[in-house]
Amino acid sequence: MPFLELQGITKAFGQQQVVRQMDLSIARGEFVSFLGPSGCGKTTTLRMVAGFERPTTGTVSIDGREVTDLRPNQRDIGMVFQSYALFPNMTVAGNIGFGLRVARRPAEEIRARVAEMLEIVKLPQHAGRYPYQLSGGQQQRVALARALAVRPKVLLLDEPLSALDAKIRVSLREEIRALQRDLGITTIYVTHDQEEALSMSDRIVVMSEGRVEQIGSPFEIYNYPRTRFVASFVGTLNLLEGRVLDPDSGRIAVDGQEIVSARGLAGSQAGETRVVALRPEALSLQNGHLDHNRLRGTIDEVSFLGSVVRVRVSLGGSAISLDMFNQASVPPPARGAPVTVSFAREDLVVLDRA
Ligand code: ATP
Repeated sequence: MPFLELQGITKAFGQQQVVRQMDLSIARGEFVSFLGPSGCGKTTTLRMVAGFERPTTGTVSIDGREVTDLRPNQRDIGMVFQSYALFPNMTVAGNIGFGLRVARRPAEEIRARVAEMLEIVKLPQHAGRYPYQLSGGQQQRVALARALAVRPKVLLLDEPLSALDAKIRVSLREEIRALQRDLGITTIYVTHDQEEALSMSDRIVVMSEGRVEQIGSPFEIYNYPRTRFVASFVGTLNLLEGRVLDPDSGRIAVDGQEIVSARGLAGSQAGETRVVALRPEALSLQNGHLDHNRLRGTIDEVSFLGSVVRVRVSLGGSAISLDMFNQASVPPPARGAPVTVSFAREDLVVLDRA
């Protein structure tokens, strides 16, 4: 049974259709990311869950109750924004206890909850400080504590890490995820950063131009993108055109060389052109297993990137890039050398038709 449910959600601002048709069920305790480029409608969707925007059509339900017409403060949600949005004239403790004071909780309960939240976000020594006396990462932890202090049913995070520098971003995303797991709180996380979405989420909703492109676990989204958009937004992929030879056995030709998709080519017709995707790290210059796919080509370019060496192989008409782990004992291949690229049949991803 879904804990948070969006049904038939659309949103227009005047003539502009910002969210086109959104159906989404989120389980209790799940961590779901909305991932997509700027302007794709992630924030607007989150704001409809929060109650800051009203859907043009459709309904929002939380814990079995329809909340579409309720105000944000009636929905049992906690929200954290990109700009920390702390009250500058209140101390850390004052900020964290704010929602509880508004709810007129007894002073003793507020004191205890604030102390508990300060522990949880690892800021017990900072209770009496003001926001301007904190680093960006600390301010965002206070914002998180403030959102969670009222024990909301749902936590909504809108790009909470994008204003922070890279190192703090990585450590805070681990902290947020651990905290979310400990509390078991159902969470939606808006981001345009694919690494953030892949590393934190139970499931990712990839959005483009107000539409859901694909919903799946990080593993599914990364390994089995269904559309060109997901393939290029979520990973650095080789996209190639293949001519279907035999849909039933999954045989397809790239630049005249026959390969096989383990996932089949159901619904395709012989002779049809389909776009296939290959991840650089799935490809190898070793011979691989007997039933691996093989493509012959010549080395076009070699870029040394440190831990990885990226090699581009020309197949004649098209080219593919592959990543080799750097090993001091294995010199990178030379340009112009003839090579065979091998990869598992499972790693050949056939995208949906455009
Ligand atoms: P970003 O990461 O830049 O916030 P986003 O994917 O979250 O992008 P939204 O903020 O949801 O995208 O915006 C989607 C579209 O809706 C944009 O074109 C934006 O200009 C438009 N939009 C958002 N809010 C309003 C509003 N109140 N009035 C008119 N247009 C709006």
